[in-house]
Amino acid sequence: MTGPSLRPRPGTAIQQFSFVDALVAGLYEGAFRAAEVSAAGDLGLGCGDALDGELVLLDGVLRVCRAGGVVSEVAPDELVPFAEVARFEPSHSETVARMTEKQFEAHVEALVPSANLFYALRLDGAFEWIQVREAVKQSAPFRPLAEAARDQHEDTVGAGRATMVGFVGPDVFQGLSVADFHLHVLDEARAFGGHVLDFEIAEATLQIQAFSAFTVRLPEVASYLQAELDDMDADAAIREVEGS
Ligand SMILES: [Zn+2]
Repeated sequence: MTGPSLRPRPGTAIQQFSFVDALVAGLYEGAFRAAEVSAAGDLGLGCGDALDGELVLLDGVLRVCRAGGVVSEVAPDELVPFAEVARFEPSHSETVARMTEKQFEAHVEALVPSANLFYALRLDGAFEWIQVREAVKQSAPFRPLAEAARDQHEDTVGAGRATMVGFVGPDVFQGLSVADFHLHVLDEARAFGGHVLDFEIAEATLQIQAFSAFTVRLPEVASYLQAELDDMDADAAIREVEGS
């Protein structure tokens, strides 16, 4: 069932701003202007300055979802510590129905040509329920992510329409990016959203694009330039925090 359509197209790349191990180490200082992030693509995700909420880039509009269901557009001059974006031109589209998160992931894994490429995903439609979390703003000096994550806000919303966007990354990129599935969500009213922990699909349109190129912009803020990032064993921390 894998057709040639899910092959990466030449000249396309996922653009990431900073990397996940930097967050694990507590480097939450905004380093990139929001305008730079949204100029690099029209679909993506990230986190707010000082972990202040979860970012969703959808149809070119960058929004931040804060604890308790507060969603607002990110101003061009606001700073972003981490983001992953793509210029989304899906080459596969289908309807998926009545799937748990685990069934959805297995479905996508069976559909794609290799576990060793990157994929951008968009899922639009009706969900039975969605469980999300929003990171909560931290103050300096920043604690490592495993500790900061204890402040995170979790919420489950019932049946409704929403859009999920995100990426599937190869396992060997854990730490540079996120291995496996990483999705953020906005509801149809663009009034609620966050980092997706779990969900059940009623019926939705799934769109996928494959990528064989992945570029990373490194932060140039002092906190990054002076950080000691050697000897990190971040995998367990990332899996705990990302809920994967
Ligand atoms: Zn996330």
